[in-house]
Amino acid sequence: MPQQTTRDVVIVGGGLIGAAVGFGLQRRGLSTVILDEGDVAFRAARGNFGLVWIQSKGSGSPDYVAWTRRAVDAWPDFAAELADLTGIDVGYRRPGGFHLCLSQAEVEQRGQMAQRVSRHQREDGKTVMVDAAAVRERVAGLGEAVVGASYNPLDGDCSSLALFRALHEGYARLGGTYRPATAARSIRTAGGAYRIETDAGAFAAPKVVFASGLGLNHFAAQVGLPPLVRAQKGQIIVTERMRPFLDLPISQIRQTPDGTVLIGDTKEEVGFDTASTMGGMIELAQRAVRALPRLADTRIIRSWGALRVLTADGLPLYEEAAGWPGVFFLTSHSGVTLAPAHAIAIAQWVAAGEMPDELQAFSATRVQAEKVA
Ligand SMILES: Cc1cc2nc3c(=O)[nH]c(=O)nc-3n(C[C@H](O)[C@H](O)[C@H](O)COP(=O)(O)OP(=O)(O)OC[C@H]3O[C@@H](n4cnc5c(N)ncnc54)[C@H](O)[C@@H]3O)c2cc1C
Repeated sequence: MPQQTTRDVVIVGGGLIGAAVGFGLQRRGLSTVILDEGDVAFRAARGNFGLVWIQSKGSGSPDYVAWTRRAVDAWPDFAAELADLTGIDVGYRRPGGFHLCLSQAEVEQRGQMAQRVSRHQREDGKTVMVDAAAVRERVAGLGEAVVGASYNPLDGDCSSLALFRALHEGYARLGGTYRPATAARSIRTAGGAYRIETDAGAFAAPKVVFASGLGLNHFAAQVGLPPLVRAQKGQIIVTERMRPFLDLPISQIRQTPDGTVLIGDTKEEVGFDTASTMGGMIELAQRAVRALPRLADTRIIRSWGALRVLTADGLPLYEEAAGWPGVFFLTSHSGVTLAPAHAIAIAQWVAAGEMPDELQAFSATRVQAEKVA
């Protein structure tokens, strides 16, 4: 197979992280190519819930609290930039968001989380606990089962598919090359650069970004890193269109601008199984109806299962592999929320080569192989 033209950076994986970083690198004037798998690939980017969420992020990690806040602060300008460049409105809004508690035990557990996180949050964006009456002021038709909620004024949501499309469209408009159906197989050094082998030939560059989601472990093994990620299934159900009744996101229920209601998402440790199951859908629907009884007579029109890409401790992982200068491994849950941070700060790090202090806490040195498996 012939070698393809050399670029500044080869990016392996065109999901939310690869597309955001590719967009950011092109914006900084670098020349990049994104290699992506075919349609059968696992793609969290196409199955997520679309929250831009801050309230529960960073329990136990002040660095993650700050990193999420940085991303959320950048969201308004980032959405506007994508709209200007591509004409795609990603539907970002930030009306604040609730996580509903349906028992006193849930209130207590959530309250502990809020306490841990809010200690590190800035005054204007603290997660607080509120009672059912306060939720009722914002959410009409709240069920009697709701006894309280956590709330953060900076929470919001977007159309995650529109975001994904805008990142790819913006990437292309800035001159990036996207190669679908081009699965990377291996990396090796070759004459001062790296070669990524694919069935469609080899791609060479002095820098490589692995943003291949659940495909990361395959490449981590090739550069001496332990397994970095595991899969966790989340099922989501979607209702028929309803009149607008919910103008802010709840962590498990959100109404889109076209009127459909998304209800999500389960957390299932079932390996690489993405099936929708009756059990999963019933679990979601029952809880949603207790929270918002008006959903009881609504038809479900669609459902899916998708796989989260999780590190052992749930934190993002950003690493330049030891002994492989210029080879980066990037992964995080919350790839929607963190998209601007990936396009701005991570792209800057990849371009400049020096890991900024704010990212040190997310290095792979914390990962122990046995915890991920
Ligand atoms: C049910 C669910 C709900 C979620 N809800 C939210 C939410 O509300 N808010 C939020 O912020 N985040 C949410 N997420 C998380 C978010 O979707 C992920 O963080 C994000 O998609 C991760 O991006 P990624 O690029 O790492 O992985 P992916 O989006 O999975 O992309 C990985 C890409 O790498 C490619 N690839 C893999 N191996 C290779 C290879 N060998 N060669 C070439 N390409 C390869 C794949 O084809 C794929 O395109 C949710 C996820 C799920 C599953």
